[in-house]
Amino acid sequence: MRFITKNIAKLDSLIRNSKKISIVTHYNPDGDAIGSGAAMYHYVKSLDKQATFIIPNPFPKNIEFAVEDVEYLIAERTFKQAKQTVLDSDLLLVVDMNNNTRSGDGLERVLNESSAKKVLIDHHVKPDKYDLSFSYPKSSSSSEVVYNILSRLTKQKVLSKEISTALYLGIITDTGSIAYSSDDPDVYSVLHYVLKSGIIASKLHQKIFDTYSFDRLKLLGYAISHKMKVFLKQRAAFIYLSKKELNRFHYKIGDLEGVVNYCLKLGEVDFCAMLTEREDKIRISFRSKDASINVDKFARKYWNGGGHVMASGGKSYESLDKVVKTLTQQIYNQDFISK
Ligand code: 5GP
Ligand code: MN
Repeated sequence: MRFITKNIAKLDSLIRNSKKISIVTHYNPDGDAIGSGAAMYHYVKSLDKQATFIIPNPFPKNIEFAVEDVEYLIAERTFKQAKQTVLDSDLLLVVDMNNNTRSGDGLERVLNESSAKKVLIDHHVKPDKYDLSFSYPKSSSSSEVVYNILSRLTKQKVLSKEISTALYLGIITDTGSIAYSSDDPDVYSVLHYVLKSGIIASKLHQKIFDTYSFDRLKLLGYAISHKMKVFLKQRAAFIYLSKKELNRFHYKIGDLEGVVNYCLKLGEVDFCAMLTEREDKIRISFRSKDASINVDKFARKYWNGGGHVMASGGKSYESLDKVVKTLTQQIYNQDFISK
């Protein structure tokens, strides 16, 4: 990963000259959001800074181990306190998101209002402008970017165990256990040093991936056997689930993590989506098997979202039925193929 040496020096002095630091990440945080944020938190704490990790809303239980010794606030639960903490901070580290909107309505306004210096550490395409930016869209994960930053700041290749635990979580979840971004040798080099810290990767992997509830596993089976539409001619598929169906399986945050990827297991499918009915909107995930199908572009153009070339998300405020119809039409029109 190429770094502008001056930017590392700038970050170093921004951190050293700050008293209170907040780390902020995106709404519906995943392993990379939690991992990259927790790693930055541990680093600034090691310099005796006051630090808080501001997490917009609750996250899955299986990734909680990464924030065991992290002081964090769930903004949706304690908004006033989160807002005050951000406004009292003299430095904001914005991780795993490319613009303030991604932290959700409430926090977005607070971030915009804050007069603190803001540093972006991210791997999503088309980032907004920040005071200092470490944006690496070709990188596997924000956690990989964080490793590269911290190894330069500390001048150490092997980082602490708690930082390495958090980075392992981020890299391994955002790459689907090194299935995506797996052509990039740098990912393996970073993992080499992450493991050298002494963490037990096999145990962490089990904690992350092999702790399903029976309900979660049944929901996965149901989604695949009853709620997957496949369009062989267009080489596309999608899964759609209503709120009622989620309730039937006692849905908990994180239970649908990774389900969209099952569509791509079909040899005949190159593009897929998953639609889930949430409280006030339909959440959509898009995935593709090849960079020639750009789902970031597709999500931006039609679904009020974005992300990466081969993994993106979006939303709609229409009914689930309507979204199913619209997406079906888009598949028939092959709108997902960049023209
Ligand atoms: P997921 O489908 O796992 O929720 O999201 C896939 C990727 O797209 C993630 O990297 C996520 O950060 C990004 N993403 C998801 N939803 C949105 C969105 O509404 N806007 C943007 N810009 N990116 C999104
Ligand atoms: Mn990420």
